[in-house]
Amino acid sequence: MAEMGALKMDNPLPSPAFTNNHHEHTLKEESWKHRAPYQIQSPQEFGPVKWRAKCKCGKISYTLRQDKPLNAKFCHCRGCQVMHGAPFQWAAIFHKEDVNFAKGCSGLSFYSSSQNSQKYQMPTKVSCSYCHTLIMDEGRNVCLLFPQLIEFEGSLDEQRKQRDAFRPTCHIFYEQRMMDIPDRTPKWSGMDGTSHLLDDEGIPIDQQCDEMRGDNM
Ligand SMILES: [Zn+2]
Ligand SMILES: [Zn+2]
Repeated sequence: MAEMGALKMDNPLPSPAFTNNHHEHTLKEESWKHRAPYQIQSPQEFGPVKWRAKCKCGKISYTLRQDKPLNAKFCHCRGCQVMHGAPFQWAAIFHKEDVNFAKGCSGLSFYSSSQNSQKYQMPTKVSCSYCHTLIMDEGRNVCLLFPQLIEFEGSLDEQRKQRDAFRPTCHIFYEQRMMDIPDRTPKWSGMDGTSHLLDDEGIPIDQQCDEMRGDNM
């Protein structure tokens, strides 16, 4: 907004730009670059930083201004397995306003799996254009960041303690898992809250209750 004000001061004459359909279209298309988490902000504007993160090559870095995510989950879906080259994905959810990329959208690549497109459109997978580290899934309302990129400090034990802030509250799409995770954390067959709760071995918990009731009768 400050930028727009400055532009008006420099150019007191009515701007013909908005009469040009193509220009207007471009502005609308690029508007995402000027909102969180891509708008470039000074450290003063963003406020005190709680966590710092960067990709493997270091060209992409971002900061967070919240101690903890809104939530954190392990996702075992096939899409996450393939994209991450890992047995499951670890995602920490933050409001977009609490995430700030040091160089805005510069150096980032996008992939929309629903559209199979590299054009920016939400939801999108965001990665470093240079080293291809996956950085986050940007949803329509929130960012799902991958906490492996966060730089925890001190001894390995101290780092583990800091990482606790990002401890997952549940597993999702556990039905598609590559391995059992006996971590005493709730496990959903699909999306959390709208699928079946499973035990560590993937057996539906409500089914177990039915079986137990059967045994007792
Ligand atoms: Zn990189
Ligand atoms: Zn997934």
